[in-house]
Amino acid sequence: MKALICGAGIAGLTLAWHLERDGWEVKIVERAPRFRKGGYMIDFYGPGMEVADRMGLRPRIVRMRYPITEIEYVDHAGRKTSGVRITGELAEQVFSLMREDLAQAVHDDLRSPIVYETSVAGIEQNASGVTVQLTDGTVETVDLLVGADGTHSRVRELAFGPKERYLRYLGRQITVYTLRDERLSREIGTRYRTLTVPGLMTGAYALRDDSLAMLFLRRASDPRPPADIAAELTRQYGHLGWILPEVLPRCPPADQLYHDQVNQVEMTEWSRGRVVLVGDACQAVSLFAGHGASLAMAGAWVLADELRRAGDDPTGALLRYHARMAKAVADTQRFGRSFIEWMAPSTRRRIVARDLLMRLAALPGGSRLLAGSLIPAGTDLITKRPDNRAGV
Ligand SMILES: Cc1cc2nc3c(=O)[nH]c(=O)nc-3n(C[C@H](O)[C@H](O)[C@H](O)COP(=O)(O)OP(=O)(O)OC[C@H]3O[C@@H](n4cnc5c(N)ncnc54)[C@H](O)[C@@H]3O)c2cc1C
Repeated sequence: MKALICGAGIAGLTLAWHLERDGWEVKIVERAPRFRKGGYMIDFYGPGMEVADRMGLRPRIVRMRYPITEIEYVDHAGRKTSGVRITGELAEQVFSLMREDLAQAVHDDLRSPIVYETSVAGIEQNASGVTVQLTDGTVETVDLLVGADGTHSRVRELAFGPKERYLRYLGRQITVYTLRDERLSREIGTRYRTLTVPGLMTGAYALRDDSLAMLFLRRASDPRPPADIAAELTRQYGHLGWILPEVLPRCPPADQLYHDQVNQVEMTEWSRGRVVLVGDACQAVSLFAGHGASLAMAGAWVLADELRRAGDDPTGALLRYHARMAKAVADTQRFGRSFIEWMAPSTRRRIVARDLLMRLAALPGGSRLLAGSLIPAGTDLITKRPDNRAGV
């Protein structure tokens, strides 16, 4: 059986990893000119970690993790206003990693070819296969086409229609970039430090090579990116003090940073015949939910698991994969939406309430409560198959 996967992110790579071990011939096409570097830190846990364990990745994840010991909220002068120490269950179960390091770990163990600077240009399918036109002018005929190409998925657009039907914009834009600064990097140490004013949030964490990652999350009614991202950040954050006067002038050009609108993707179907979506392309939960990479890996594993059981006709497997994932995704999306005002409060009252909650979480036992509210009980996605009453 042959599969073409569009997108070499965590979902696409994880699916390729499993399919090739199940005897599939897999080819990946990726829009970027080379393996994607740069990015942002993710907290990785729950069902994705269960999949990573099954892939033997735990030792590497443990080596790659950043030991974030505290989340600190600071004021304009950089003084701590509240915070929570990452101890106990949170420290044991949550792995803070760079997205690229996790993707690299999966990539290093893959044999399937990745064709860069290439995407899907057109799709035609019948009962026995899919003919895919690629942007490099070649044509592939495969048993399965997978759209693992993120929230703005091209495969979704070709198979299901315009993205506006499926994107739920959460009213925020996110920018992340890194800069070299040994002094600031040392000063931040193992803390994640963050400053919030109504509608604007910024955070900083140190990376291994004496660099610093800066994250900017801002309220914006218009989801379109600003014409000049660096100028817009300076305009909005330039007067807020803390380390911002030092780091804003060093914002790189748009092609060297990560910028996107914050979206969730909501769909009632994830496949059309032999075309299927995986990861953010069909189930993006947003950074507010904090489980996107974990669910992307879980989705890739569940899809491979159903295909493994299906034999030669994958279409029923694609429906069962969606049925297995749908509730966990919907629950996580709901959780994500409820978390927006905690992570990026839009009023001063909300900021005060958040600081109060953080002080409570800092009390003995608070870390366990926080872990309970943040860590999903989603590992049964991997271990449990629902009964087949739906008849799919
Ligand atoms: C700031 C931030 C913080 C986050 N924090 C967390 C967290 O703490 N925990 C967590 O679990 N998740 C977190 N997430 C979410 C997580 O990163 C995503 O859910 C996850 O990376 C989705 O993986 P994916 O492979 O589905 O999509 P992506 O990572 O978007 O990968 C898609 C791939 O497809 C490629 N592509 C796109 N379009 C095309 C095209 N037309 N043709 C070919 N290739 C294409 C892209 O270049 C990319 O390589 C965070 C996200 C952000 C932005």
